[in-house]
Amino acid sequence: MRSIRRAIVASACAGAVLVLTGPGSTATIDMPRRAVVPATAPNAQKPAVILKRIPFGATRKHQMAAYSKRHYGTWAWRLQDPKVIVEHFTGGNSFTSAWNTFAANSRHLGEMPGTCAHFIIDSNGRIYQLVWLTIRCRHAVGMNWTAFGIEMVGTSDHQILNRPKQIGAAYRLTLWLMQRFHIQLRNVIGHHENLISPYHHELYPSWRCQTHADWNHADMKVFRRHVRAMAILHHVPIGPAPVWVHPNC
Ligand SMILES: [Zn+2]
Repeated sequence: MRSIRRAIVASACAGAVLVLTGPGSTATIDMPRRAVVPATAPNAQKPAVILKRIPFGATRKHQMAAYSKRHYGTWAWRLQDPKVIVEHFTGGNSFTSAWNTFAANSRHLGEMPGTCAHFIIDSNGRIYQLVWLTIRCRHAVGMNWTAFGIEMVGTSDHQILNRPKQIGAAYRLTLWLMQRFHIQLRNVIGHHENLISPYHHELYPSWRCQTHADWNHADMKVFRRHVRAMAILHHVPIGPAPVWVHPNC
């Protein structure tokens, strides 16, 4: 019985391969072309950030850990593996006054520590970082155990959406945080969306409906649409479609 020696002698990029079908004879056969798509790494640049830290020493960390224990069930001040970015506006027109409010560590809703944000973006687009990104900051009820807080100086969503430098800075900062911490776009939320986030968790029944009017659902759709377009441009993973929950209150 005659055996036919068969060996592939060329392949890879070509759509056809040359095959030895026997001594001295060859044939080409078509092979399905395998798409070779080079993986493009995410390349969103970190925007310029000015470090202007608020006091967050041992006492405030202890207060934050106690807050976490009361509201989330775990004694912790460290922000580990954050899953959410919460967008806010300050309700005023001054960066300095917002920074002073967060630095003061004043009682809020009858409890310590005071309110806080990881970043404040001034109306001119300058981004300030207030605490290290490994610290839990008290900025949105139900979310502080897993969320970064970004405050924008201003008094309404629309005012800020119409300030190209400021909103552009917010998009760039949000995108970079998504890339750096693998945060899905659906978990970029407005403060007013905290109650419908699947990450919302609050042990105090009387606080379970606590929200604020800043960055509502309709305006956050605009916000996320812009960030989505930038994410595609910079190859930052977006993640699955949003899953909103019914408020647990
Ligand atoms: Zn807010």
